[in-house]
Amino acid sequence: MNVSTAPTWNATVLTLYPEMFPGPLGISLSGDALMRGTWALEARDIREHGLGRHRAVDDTPAGGGAGMVLRCDVLGAAIDAAAPPDDSRPRLLMSPRGKPLAQNRVRALSEGPGVVLVCGRFEGVDERVIAGRGLEEVSIGDYILSGGEIAALVLLDACIRLLPGVMGKVASGEEESFETGHLEYPHYTRPRDWEGRAIPDVLTGGNHGAIARWRRAEALRLTRARRPDLLRPGED
Ligand code: SAH
Repeated sequence: MNVSTAPTWNATVLTLYPEMFPGPLGISLSGDALMRGTWALEARDIREHGLGRHRAVDDTPAGGGAGMVLRCDVLGAAIDAAAPPDDSRPRLLMSPRGKPLAQNRVRALSEGPGVVLVCGRFEGVDERVIAGRGLEEVSIGDYILSGGEIAALVLLDACIRLLPGVMGKVASGEEESFETGHLEYPHYTRPRDWEGRAIPDVLTGGNHGAIARWRRAEALRLTRARRPDLLRPGED
């Protein structure tokens, strides 16, 4: 039941392992939001569209080489059954060749109607289904996973936490690393002294202007040191 006024954000995942979903997204904030109907999840088994008695989904690569490739006819049929042409949701193929996922894209996706995610396995998918079904390739980083499922869970988690009402305090979504263009400043909580390390005095002094300035300066210092690529012109 969707008890909020916002429409449900609909995620459809095409996978050979539907039992991997909702997985970790079924607990905590995303799990509560799933129960409330803030978002909905449909994990569809690509193998339902497999061929023959063994429901084959893959075949050997044209031109030779190691591994297997997901067939375009099988995947095409699975996509058509899950997302008809009038479905306005973006269709994303989890793929290490894709554009790296970043917070601006996550936010845009979370503000739309939902997503259709295709999870590759083996060596990947037949190239023709990418163009034939208008799939946009999205990567979660420069490393190779054994399948697209964990990448899909990453993308979904990042989107779901931004849906209205999912995070307790709306502000906490806007101050994180990347949303501000900088890495986040350091956090502290009790105890005030721990193993000879004290919380910086400014944070316990009650001067809110000074605290805000300290946090901005720390965010800039960390970004310069660790991720200079995030700095805007003039900040370096
Ligand atoms: N042979 C391919 C890798 C295939 S890995 C290559 O070298 O590019 C199998 C599947 O895992 C892929 O089809 C994709 O769906 C998923 N995958 C692997 N790494 C990923 C990443 N960094 N981001 C998103 N999906 C990934």
